[in-house]
Amino acid sequence: MFTSLRTKLTLSMLVTSLAAISVMALITPWLLEIRFEEEARQVHFSRFVRLIENFREDNGQWGGQENALLLHKRILDSSSRLARSPEASPSHPGDLKPERHPLDSETFRYVLADPQGFVFMPFGDYQAGQQLTDRQLERSEPLYNGDQLLGYALGANEFPMTEQDKSYLMIQSRSMLLGAAAGLIVTLLLSLTMGRQLIKHLQSLTRAAIEMSKGNLNQQVSVEGKDEIALLAREFNRMALELNNTYAELKASNETIKAQAEAMQELSLRDELTGLHNRRYFNQQFRLMHHQAVRYGENLALALGDIDNFKQINDRFSHQIGDTVLKQVAKLMAEEIRDADILARYGGEEFVILLGHTDKHQAEGLVDRIRAKVAAWPWQHIHKDLSVTISFGISDKLDTDLGHSMLVEADNRLYEAKDQGRNRVCI
Ligand code: GH3
Ligand code: MG
Ligand code: MG
Repeated sequence: MFTSLRTKLTLSMLVTSLAAISVMALITPWLLEIRFEEEARQVHFSRFVRLIENFREDNGQWGGQENALLLHKRILDSSSRLARSPEASPSHPGDLKPERHPLDSETFRYVLADPQGFVFMPFGDYQAGQQLTDRQLERSEPLYNGDQLLGYALGANEFPMTEQDKSYLMIQSRSMLLGAAAGLIVTLLLSLTMGRQLIKHLQSLTRAAIEMSKGNLNQQVSVEGKDEIALLAREFNRMALELNNTYAELKASNETIKAQAEAMQELSLRDELTGLHNRRYFNQQFRLMHHQAVRYGENLALALGDIDNFKQINDRFSHQIGDTVLKQVAKLMAEEIRDADILARYGGEEFVILLGHTDKHQAEGLVDRIRAKVAAWPWQHIHKDLSVTISFGISDKLDTDLGHSMLVEADNRLYEAKDQGRNRVCI
């Protein structure tokens, strides 16, 4: 439901402060009320003690039902005086200082007992002449004249709060609630701005990670401070850099390997001495071109060439001169053929030419030009007695036997050319 981290953060801060404020709003008025009541009770009691002292001074006597009646009358007089006095009632409505409760009340009064604990001024549940129990004595306040114990005073019934006290407490609680609401708003604003700060770095980290997953490995995020997010960002940057470098290295070495493989492939299809394609390459191409020619009814011609009396050249001049002759013949043939034709060294001093879209008569023209060129080349530059010729057999026989019969026929025509005296082309 709450997907964004920022929302979660804000909510958790809000919930936390709301909980803290609620607890405070519940506990504080209660504590305030207890403290307040204690204070009021104290003021009330000291006023009561003063009244008794005055009574004792004036009357000279203390204790007994007769004196209790007199004392009670004095209390009534004093409380009606207190209620009328200007300090007790607020002069204007804004002055909400709680008034101390008068000594006489319908519900609360002090009960007096003599030093033995016998009640002589009763109220509420306490009867005249009744003896206070130990627990009641513990709760009561002893009254002294110097060191002499005069008796005990004990509050009967709940200590009452005046209307003013109550409204004072109410205003305190309301103010506290207002303060709490203001605190909540401040918490909300703070958590929103702090959340944005915190989330900012996480968001840039997420963006960078997504970019990386798309293949853009060159990602770095800004690192601020030393907290967990900064640590994460630093670690992310380190990993991204490492990955990027590794990828670059891998790419480079992959390209090298590819280039090497291509070079090896090329080498494996070339003849070292002449630089022409080799028999393996010829076989590949022949299979393809033959298949295509059969399938689409196209012409294809194959010419097999063989240097005449090459064994003698080797024997008479040298093997090196033989190699030179092979290279020169290869060069002359390569100069003459078209780009689309395939020329390869087929064996020792044998060459093969594959001519697409060509029949044997068209092939004869091109191949005979090669033959004439070889015969006419100034071989004396290599050795004064050297002369070189080459014979060719041509076939354009297409059959569904992967080119076998075409090769056989070209070879047969080559034999014919040799038989007929060499330096010629047979079709
Ligand atoms: P023909 O006119 O009937 O073709 O006679 P030929 O002597 O050319 O026939 P043969 O096929 O008997 O001789 C081919 C010779 O070519 C044999 C071999 O020593 C030589 N040879 C094969 N490969 C090379 C090479 O790479 N370099 C050199 N120098 N000689 C080679
Ligand atoms: Mg030969
Ligand atoms: Mg030969």
